[in-house]
Amino acid sequence: MIPVNTPLLCGNEKKYLSECIDSGWISSEGPFVSKFEKLFAARVGREFGVAVTNGTAALQVACDAINLQAGDEVIMPSFTIVSCANAIISVGATPVLVDAHPKSWNMDVGAIEDKITANTRAILVVHIYGMPVDMDPILELARKYNLKVIEDAAEAIGLQYKGRECGSFGDISCFSFYPNKHITTGEGGMVVMNDPALYESCKSLRNLCFQEKQRFVHERMGWNFRMTNIQAALGLAQLEQLDNFLVKKREIGNFYYELLSNHPKLEFQEKCCSYADNIYWVFGLVLKESAGMDAKEMAKRLSMHKIGTRPFFWPMHKQPIFARMGLFEGESYPVSERLATHGLYLPSGLALTKDDVRTVVGHVQEILQ
Ligand SMILES: *Cc1c(COP(=O)(O)O)cnc(C)c1O
Repeated sequence: MIPVNTPLLCGNEKKYLSECIDSGWISSEGPFVSKFEKLFAARVGREFGVAVTNGTAALQVACDAINLQAGDEVIMPSFTIVSCANAIISVGATPVLVDAHPKSWNMDVGAIEDKITANTRAILVVHIYGMPVDMDPILELARKYNLKVIEDAAEAIGLQYKGRECGSFGDISCFSFYPNKHITTGEGGMVVMNDPALYESCKSLRNLCFQEKQRFVHERMGWNFRMTNIQAALGLAQLEQLDNFLVKKREIGNFYYELLSNHPKLEFQEKCCSYADNIYWVFGLVLKESAGMDAKEMAKRLSMHKIGTRPFFWPMHKQPIFARMGLFEGESYPVSERLATHGLYLPSGLALTKDDVRTVVGHVQEILQ
């Protein structure tokens, strides 16, 4: 079996976890949490980091911290994980969708301005699969229309846009440390920012909005989204290896690309463009019409050869739950739809070997013959 993902835990993970157990510091009060926050924020070029329980919680805290509320609209891609829309809806605001770009698979930056109304408050950008969104035009729109930028860099840890770290562009930016991300804490996430007031809001929202003077008197709704010392211990050990992980992920992605990119029945995300080099969070492919099958069929056939895959995201405008809420009625985003039905990703975890890649590619080629 070649699984779709296996994390690598080969640095100081055991050592730091032992320190948690030996010292008894296992809750969020332990010393690894603030250490991880400081070092991670510094790594992505931010002043502050607030560690939370997962990437979905990070998005929720971010939407709340910038004070989104009922009536506010937030522009976001249809082709992304549901966490993004959930976060916007959870604070009472309304997601407004744009389609994906057929080459980058990221949100179509040229389609954003048409969606801006008097109620638009923010743009939520999501860097998809290892290539960044073209940020300059987004930042320009944000300036022009006085919008906040929320950046979801969960799939972009260590990725650079024009030489600058992803996660450093948003007024507030979010990360996930789920085991398939570039570094993992098992479950975990972080919100990063430069604004001290936003930093204080996020810390408070993560911790039930307890107050310093009267702990159990609350002025605002918060959650318990605190990261534990155990998670942060893992995160710290993983962060030390991030540069190696980036090299490894790029090797895997580039090797797949080398072996498959000329295939006449397949399409791929760009390997590089004028503003970035793909870090291959995952290696995805899209089946062309000529393949004569959809992603479901390809996944089924690969699984018969014991090769794990994952389908691409299912577009937000096609989600039954949002249809029931009356959202995105009658909207159509053809690129997102085609990515969803004809895209899947191949095993892309850090423990993958070159031989694994050759095996996977061999089966893909054979199935397409
Ligand atoms: C993984 C991911 C998330 C969610 O993170 P969790 O830690 O699984 O909650 C959010 N956004 C993107 C783009 C992701 O890839």
